[in-house]
Amino acid sequence: MNVLVTGGAGYIGSVVVARLLEAGHDVTVIDDLSTGHRDAVPDGAQFVLGRVQQVSSTLVRQTFDGVVHLAASSLVAESIADPQKYETNNVAGTRHLLEALLAAGIWKIVFSSSAAVYGEPARVPIEEDAPTDPLNPYGASKATVDQMLGEEAARHGIAAVSLRYFNVAGSYGTLGERHDPETHLIPLTLRAALEGKPIAVFGDDYPTPDGTCIRDYIHVVDIADAHLLALGVASPGTWRVYNLGNGEGFSVRQVIAAARRVTGMMLAEHVSTRRAGDPAVLVASSERARRELGWVPRKPELDEMVADSWHLVQRQQQ
Ligand code: UDP
Repeated sequence: MNVLVTGGAGYIGSVVVARLLEAGHDVTVIDDLSTGHRDAVPDGAQFVLGRVQQVSSTLVRQTFDGVVHLAASSLVAESIADPQKYETNNVAGTRHLLEALLAAGIWKIVFSSSAAVYGEPARVPIEEDAPTDPLNPYGASKATVDQMLGEEAARHGIAAVSLRYFNVAGSYGTLGERHDPETHLIPLTLRAALEGKPIAVFGDDYPTPDGTCIRDYIHVVDIADAHLLALGVASPGTWRVYNLGNGEGFSVRQVIAAARRVTGMMLAEHVSTRRAGDPAVLVASSERARRELGWVPRKPELDEMVADSWHLVQRQQQ
């Protein structure tokens, strides 16, 4: 297949590109490098510097069999401070992309959605037909695009798949998390270990066994492989949704304990206030992905995800 990957210079996108190339596909990346890194785009992929809003000119030059759409703004706190940015980049940007795809006769799209669409879930593990009720504009922007894809599948017959990621972790070769600012628990914990500083625990008064938030961590290579499977099952006129997680939750304190095991370092923690927009527990049911995509996470162990990230952090220090 000839695949266009938007956001292919980012953490997850670059691993998607690597796995597509390894599977023998041709890949073109479009990325504006606002948060991604040019050197994260694997060799062998064509690179186009640009925004999703400028995708039309890329499409007229080449014929693509499908698009994996990851380009997005993805910081919860930023989305609360600047919701318009999320409307512009995530919602309007995708609307433009869809119009360009239809005009170019490209029907297949795999979209990076998020567990954030569910908000505070009534039941865990969360199934795909749980109501969407996002707690922040980031989650709302992903829910709006999901809905848009459902409408476009019904109206124009596109083949659409939304992959709702839970907490993506780990690294793949030299590809890992390089967010600036970094907001995610595992890289911040490893950075704290490296610098001998305490890690902040955002709230220990949640209704969970140890009082800290529980998340479902999933290895980035398993997330990436789900995109390849999704490209295979996408069918015209249908919008499919899959939750991607391991179905097991770990608290913030359990993640910190894993980092202590992996690094062998004393890692102090200090409890600070809750972060706005954080649900207490997010755990996926990924039964549907297993059943319909044949998706089986190959690296489900939390310690292995933390270890993969740690090895890359150490390599970057050298
Ligand atoms: N978290 C924390 N300290 C940090 C960063 C994150 O306690 O320095 C918590 C955060 O409140 C959430 C969990 O760790 O409960 C995972 O946060 P992350 O930002 O990694 O992912 P999210 O669940 O927001 O997508």
